[in-house]
Amino acid sequence: MSKFKFAMYWAGSCGGCEIALLEIKEKIVEVDQNYEVVFWPAATDFKYKDVEGYDDGFIDVCLFNGCIRNSENEHLAKVLRAKSKVLVAFGACATMGGIPGLANVASAQEIKDLVYRDSPSIDNPDGIYPQERYEVPEGVLDLPHMYDTVKTLDQTVDVDYYVPGCAPEAGQIAAVLDVVTAALKGEGPLPPKGSTVGVSPKTCCEECKRVKEEKKITSFRRIWEFLPDPEKCLLEQGLICMGPATHAGCGARCTGVGMPCRGCYGAPDGVLDQGAKMLSTVASIVDAPTPEEIAVIAATVPDPVGTFYRFGLPSSLLRRARV
Ligand code: SF4
Repeated sequence: MSKFKFAMYWAGSCGGCEIALLEIKEKIVEVDQNYEVVFWPAATDFKYKDVEGYDDGFIDVCLFNGCIRNSENEHLAKVLRAKSKVLVAFGACATMGGIPGLANVASAQEIKDLVYRDSPSIDNPDGIYPQERYEVPEGVLDLPHMYDTVKTLDQTVDVDYYVPGCAPEAGQIAAVLDVVTAALKGEGPLPPKGSTVGVSPKTCCEECKRVKEEKKITSFRRIWEFLPDPEKCLLEQGLICMGPATHAGCGARCTGVGMPCRGCYGAPDGVLDQGAKMLSTVASIVDAPTPEEIAVIAATVPDPVGTFYRFGLPSSLLRRARV
C-alpha cells in the first residue's frame, strides 16, 4: 500500500512546533511507515514550486504552524489549503495568533521604526530599512510584504482541525496523528470538522494538582519577586495564572514546576474571549471595598495585554489596536 502524503509548514512562528513533532520519539517511526513527506521546508529540501505543482488534494494531511504575518505566509496558506485534504492549524500561533500576534498593538511601520531606528541596540546611522524589492547585478531580490495585522490561519483559509499549544504536547501530537492515520486507513472516523483535537473540555485548573482555597488578592506580583509556596494555587499567591481561562490538555505542566499557566492552549469550551474571561476571574478575586482601592490593585497587574492576550490577541474580540 502506498504511503499517505504528509506536509508541514512553518509560517510566522519560532519553529518550536517543528521541534515538538520530534518529541513523539519512537512514534516518529510509525509516522515514517505511514507517511511520505512531500513538503516540509524545515526538514527537507522541497521548493515552493514543488508544492505549487501538486494536484489539488494531493497532500493527505498538512500540519501548518505559525501565524499569517506577511504575504509569503498568506500565499503558502492558500496553496497548502488547496493541495491538502486535511489542513490542521498546529500550535498556538496558527490557532490563535500566538506570541507574534502581540505585534497587533502596533502597525508594521511602528515595528520597523522601533527595530531599525529607535531601538537602543540598533546602529544604523544611515537609516537603512529593509526594501521589499532591490535590484542587484545578478537580478531582483524580493522580501515578503509585512502586514499591519497578524492573522490566525482560519482568518485566512478554511481549517479542518485545531491543535493548540506552545508547542503542542507530544502526547497530544501522537493522538492527533493516530486519529488521522486511522481515518485515512478507513479504520475510524475523523473528528467533526472544526474540532480542537487533543484537549479536554475542562480548564487547566481542573488538571492542576495545586491546593485551591478561597481566592482573595490584595496585590499582584511577578514570578521573580518571591518564591511561591510549592503546594498552593499560584493565583491565590498573587501570580496571574491563566488556568481558569485555559483549555486543559497539557497536564498543567507549567504550574507543576511553579510557573503560572500562560494560556497557550487557548480558551476552554464555551468561552469566546480568553482574555476577557481571565479579566472577569481577576475582577472577582480582588479584595478591596472601594473603586479607588480596586484601581490601585488593578494597576499592579503587569503588562495587561501581554498577560491576558499573550497567545490570543489576533483571535480575540479586540483582534488588534486601532492604528
Ligand atoms: Fe493551578 Fe493556576 Fe488554576 Fe491555581 S489558577 S489551580 S495554579 S492552574
